[in-house]
Parts: sequence; C-alpha cells; structure tokens
Amino acid sequence: MVGHGDLIPLPVSYEEREGVFHFGAETFIVAPPELLREAGALAAWLSSVDGVGKVSAVQAGVAPAPSGEKTSTSAPTGVPGAGACRGCSVIHLSLVQDAGRGARRGPRAPEAYELEIAPAGIEIRGTDAAGVVRGAASLWQLALAQGGNVGAALVRDEPRFRWRGIMLDCARNFFRVEFIEKVLDLTALHKLNVFHWHLTDDQAWRLEIPSKPELTERGAFRRDLRYRIDQWKGGYYSREDVARIIDYARARHILVVPEIELPGHSTALLASHPEFSCLGAQDPSVRFEPEDRYGIFEDIVCGGNERVLSFFDEVLGQVCAMFPGDYVHMGGDEAPKGRWLTCPVCRQKMAMLGMRRADGEYEPEHLQAWFMERLAEMLAQRGKRMIGWDEVVEGGIGKDTVVMCWRSSEQGKRAAKLGYDVVMCPQQACYLDHKHLDVPEEPGQLGVCTVKDSYMFEPIPEGLSAAERRHILGGQANLWSELLYFGRQAEYMLFPRLCALSEVFWSARRKRDFEDFCARLGAHERRLGALDLLYYKGKLSK
Ligand SMILES: [Zn+2]
Repeated sequence: MVGHGDLIPLPVSYEEREGVFHFGAETFIVAPPELLREAGALAAWLSSVDGVGKVSAVQAGVAPAPSGEKTSTSAPTGVPGAGACRGCSVIHLSLVQDAGRGARRGPRAPEAYELEIAPAGIEIRGTDAAGVVRGAASLWQLALAQGGNVGAALVRDEPRFRWRGIMLDCARNFFRVEFIEKVLDLTALHKLNVFHWHLTDDQAWRLEIPSKPELTERGAFRRDLRYRIDQWKGGYYSREDVARIIDYARARHILVVPEIELPGHSTALLASHPEFSCLGAQDPSVRFEPEDRYGIFEDIVCGGNERVLSFFDEVLGQVCAMFPGDYVHMGGDEAPKGRWLTCPVCRQKMAMLGMRRADGEYEPEHLQAWFMERLAEMLAQRGKRMIGWDEVVEGGIGKDTVVMCWRSSEQGKRAAKLGYDVVMCPQQACYLDHKHLDVPEEPGQLGVCTVKDSYMFEPIPEGLSAAERRHILGGQANLWSELLYFGRQAEYMLFPRLCALSEVFWSARRKRDFEDFCARLGAHERRLGALDLLYYKGKLSK
C-alpha cells in the first residue's frame, strides 16, 4: 500500500507493510566501524523521543551488553534482532554501493537510502554514509510522530538537489553553540546538508582568528544603542567552538560554510582596523564602532589597498585551516562605491588596472570584481572555492565562483546563463526573516513570505537549457537576525517555512503538491511540538 508516513520532505516512494516495529526497553543500532559516528547521531535523536527506551550504538560483530543481562556471545548479524538479547530491538546500518546491480534493487545516487521497517527489526541502507543519515532522519520523523510503535514500511528515497542549505546570521545576533547544535539537528531532520554560517557583518566579527585577536576583542561586542542601556553585548566563536560545531555537523553530514563578508558590511572589522577604510587610510584619527543600527553603510573596506589583501591572505589561511569544507563565502553584496570613487588609493588602483571608461569615469564594480578575484585566488591556493552573493557577477568575476542568488530568481538565471554555478535563495521565497503573513502583529522585516510562497518556489528558472540547468546546484533558506534576540524567535521564523523549503530542495518537482504538504504538516507539527520548538501556527497562504 502506498503512503507517505507524513514525511517531510516527501520521499521518492513509501510502501506500507504489515505489522509494527516496537521499540523495546533497549534498542541497539548496529553499524560497521565506518558508520559508528552516524549511529551515534541516530542514537541521540531516538533516545529523546517519547516512547522509545534506551538507545545505543554498537559496532557490528561486537555483541551488545544489555543492561541487567549477561553479555551475549553471538553477535547480531543477518536477521535484525537475532542473537542480540531478549526484549531488545535492533536497527542495522549499512552501505550498499553496488545494490543496484545485486538481486535487491537498492539506492544508487549520492545521499540515497532505503529504510526498511519490519516487526523483527529495522534496516537503513545508504549509498554512502550521508544516505544512511538521511534514512535515519526519516526514522526519527516516524518515531517522533508514532512514538515507540512504528508502522512497517519500505522507504526508498534520494534528493533532487545536491545543495540544500540553511544560513544562520550569527553576526547581527550572537547565537550560542548549543543553539547552533539544535539548528544542525533540525537541518538534518529535514534532510538539508549545508550550514552557511554568517560570521561577520557591520554589527560584529564573531570568528576568533588566532593571530589577529583584535578582530574579536574590538569587533565581537557592541554598545546597545537601541535600548540606550549602557552595556556591551555580543560574543564570539573560539577555535574550540568552531571545532565542536564542525564535529557535530560532520556526524550529520552537513557541510559547514563560513562567511567572512567583504568589502561591504565590514564596520565591525573597521572597528579594529580603521586604516582599512578609504577614509582611515588617509586620516589616522578616523574611528569606527561595531554598528547597532542596521542597513547599508558608506564606509567599506578600501578596494585598492594591498595591505588589506595581505592581511586577508593571513586571515583566510587560518579560516581555511579551521573549516575542512570545500567552500568559503566571501560576501560581496551591498557594497556602496561612493568612498572608492573619491579615495586616492582606489582611484590609483582603478587607473592602473584600466578601469576607466572612455569618458574618464571610474568603474568601481570592476575594482570590486578584481578585489573579490584576489580573495578567490587566496582560497583556490588552499583548495577552496569562493561563494559570493549575486552582485559579484556584475564586475565579471571568474567562473569558478559560486553565485548565491538572493535578489531574485532572475539574478540566478542570469548567472547560470553566464556559466556560473548557482545556489538559489531569492528573498521572495527563501528569506525567513520576512513576516509569515501581512498583518501588523506578525514579527519579521523587509517583506512577507508565506509558507505557500516558500513551498511554490521552483529553484530552476524557466528558460534555461539542459546545460544551464545543471549549474543550479540547489537552494537555501536564509535567516537574517537583525530583529531576533533569542533562539526562540529564530525557531518561530524558521518553522514551518523551512519544512516547505526542505521539500522544494529534496523532493521531485512533479510530486510536489501544496494541499498534500499541508495535510502532512499536521503530523509534522506534532514532531516540532515534541522537539519543543516554537513555530508559526497561522494562515499558510495570503
Ligand atoms: Zn579606497
């Protein structure tokens, strides 16, 4: 019988079977050595579900030692549950790269999985370790909705897009490491696989750079001007915090992408290095404070200054050492060029690089592209690829840069046609700091984005050729935090729009149906409730 177990995102197929799997007093997740980390993540998820008893991860071939019973000598192999212990239940994790060619039809695509729930036990088979974790997330969802008795089923599933991201702005508001770990679990619950960590902005520099302690000393704390309270607020992430987040994300197969914003949105950097601004390079008395206001500020990093670039060569060396992933986001958006047009250093650089039109006008967009390209080279030397917001296309940056499209889908379409790889996160559907509904009492800023607006978003724009469509890597939900002071508020803005976007990024386009999504959302809200999340409960469309 075909069903869907109220899973969000909707799986490729879900076949209901006879019977029920009962979580016993104790459950063992049996995994080969290469999947023990993933088994640990699933154990942590399941043990906090009501109705599921104790859950622990054990290595295959090593007999589990159930509480209060003698250690069994026979290892649990083959049939789940066999030889383990009385009253115990067993979940097997395995990799099945060649399953497609074997007797049993199995998953083949990256992150694909099969989840087989039978009364005798559960099996999660993935094409890779990430696939096992995606299957584990489905099991977590079913257990959250059904408790200790999960209906038998066979789920076969794989993602539509390879980039399924969530961005959390930790510069405007400082979120504690514990909250970020919670966000990573929710990211995994919805089968998203990228955590874009916005670490620097006008309001703060949050990342500890070992050789440049002044960046966080001056840049991580700001005076509260909004409430006129004479106190400093803020915080930063130490190297240990970063390592902890990366470890946590790794077990959940989530790529962590740090963002160091340049040349705009850099007031907090200028607070410790005013000489990096166009004005400060000329006048040593110029000073900046991390902003407690929001918007776009005139003073940005001086684009023609070689000292800025050599400083960032060192900073990025340390960023690349801290973050093992292949990508670093360098911002590149909302950088007003007024200062560059009058700055002697910027003007000299533009003249030298031939960035003047026939009528003598300078071309600061090209200076920005040149500046960003230098950063991209620093990253490439360290084996990393640069990501930039869609403005970076304007000055003609190199094609290896990944473009994160935020202003509108049209920008993403343009970039894909030019040959850039693109991550789609247009504000109209993917900016979760917007209001859920156009009523005065709803929190949010800069626009309205209903759950339906998010759900109806299609990441692949009309009018692209097959080759151009392949440049669309996927999509991302972005949560800016100008108006968020607590994790609770962040949860309210994220849900249930993040659920809608997870389906946009994971599920097949032809299977997406808003009515059907709304019907499943009822069960899914019970999951959100069980996880003690604050979420929006009002109208889902205009
Ligand atoms: Zn300048």
